[in-house]
Amino acid sequence: MRPALFTDRDGTINRDCPYCHRIEDLVIYNDAVEILKEFHEKGFLIVIVTNQSGINRGYFTEKEFREFNDAVIHSLGESGVYVDATYFCPHRPDENCSCRKPKTELIVRAVKEMDIDLNRSVILGDREDIEGELGRKLGIKSIILKRSGCETTVR
Ligand SMILES: [Mg+2]
Repeated sequence: MRPALFTDRDGTINRDCPYCHRIEDLVIYNDAVEILKEFHEKGFLIVIVTNQSGINRGYFTEKEFREFNDAVIHSLGESGVYVDATYFCPHRPDENCSCRKPKTELIVRAVKEMDIDLNRSVILGDREDIEGELGRKLGIKSIILKRSGCETTVR
């Protein structure tokens, strides 16, 4: 069993627009690439776990989400980072689903489906109240990257 680095996407790997889905807006953070590479080289699976309420808010389609996500993965690949899987929640907060982070369902699902060693796994994100909280709930370590600038702008 391998451990995983469960990484947030928007605001962690790429600049948050927010609700980003246009490939021309894609900017990858170098520090995130370095961290992903380091964990990949240590034998961790790299699993993107992302809230995408923009889908059910009607801001973009699931197809557009997948195209943007593929562009993120492709761009990481050019830097030598291989992403093993992506898990996403399409729901709005008011839908009270069981998968929106900081709820644990997406990670629990990944652990089961990919036979991941949860106890040795690590969470990477940009939000103490989301990925930090998720780490506490699961009892695993989290790394929170502090971002500033346009990613905090609310549309
Ligand atoms: Mg984020």
